[in-house]
Amino acid sequence: MVVGFGLRLEGKVALITGAASGIGKAAASKFISNGAKVVIADIQHELGQNTVKELGPNAIFIACDVTKESDISNVIDFTMSKHNQLDIMYNNAGVPCNTLPSIVDLDLEMFDRIMDINVRGVMAGIKHASRVMIPRRAGSILCTASVTGLMGGLAQHAYSVSKSAVIGIVRSLAAELCKYGIRVNCISPFAIPTAFVIEDMRRLFPGVDDKQIVEMVHGLGVLEGTICEANDIANAALYLASDDAKYVSGHNLVIDGGFTSFKNLELAIQNQART
Ligand code: NAD
Repeated sequence: MVVGFGLRLEGKVALITGAASGIGKAAASKFISNGAKVVIADIQHELGQNTVKELGPNAIFIACDVTKESDISNVIDFTMSKHNQLDIMYNNAGVPCNTLPSIVDLDLEMFDRIMDINVRGVMAGIKHASRVMIPRRAGSILCTASVTGLMGGLAQHAYSVSKSAVIGIVRSLAAELCKYGIRVNCISPFAIPTAFVIEDMRRLFPGVDDKQIVEMVHGLGVLEGTICEANDIANAALYLASDDAKYVSGHNLVIDGGFTSFKNLELAIQNQART
């Protein structure tokens, strides 16, 4: 029997923030089934521990709030002391924003909070991962951006701006880190009914049950016959993290069924006919 045949991350160590649930959890599971050891860093302790139980002995949980630089620094040091290496740093933790949609109603404290988690948390993650990756002159850094960072009008301003910033961070950091052989990429997912999207939609549509919310979110996609799922993002993360993407850096891999590539005129006409 050939042990490890086809395992694309065999012998690799990954750290994923926000991996107690949703996209991060799906990526952790995918990485582990491809031979990696994964450190799950999340603010939700109990959920994180349950996720680790579910994912098995190659997963380990450590509490981390990405807004605290000391927490980020600690999880990197923890990973190094536990596994002696860090090959993949996936900055995935993020939160939605529930301020009112108009700029005139923008709550700037909420704006700061969103930027703190979605942008500063990513910068801190890259800073501390680089600290241990640069001496080894290798590494793959991933971030979760969003289609809302590419197009206006898809989400509230603070969230949209934060995700545009993530795409900018990837370009800026890829430019510096290429000379150390470190690749930096991001993934921009379309809407997926994970915990934070469901919570956000509950606020927007009170009285609508979760099953309907899931259907509503899936109904937003343009690619017929399929839906966008956390596993689709995990597959993209596996590709970018692995040597299959050994010459890919500074890239934003958009997983949206084509949504941001075109204006669907037929759909627009149908919507107009309905109003
Ligand atoms: P999720 O709510 O299932 O997962 C987010 C995780 O981040 C949670 O486990 C949460 O505890 C953790 N987290 C939140 N704040 C944190 C902090 N300060 N420190 C550490 N961990 C923290 O949602 P998800 O959809 O899996 O979100 C993952 C990423 O994907 C986010 O960056 C989100 O912006 C992005 N994204 C999601 C969608 C979508 O439609 N679900 C689309 C595009 C991008």
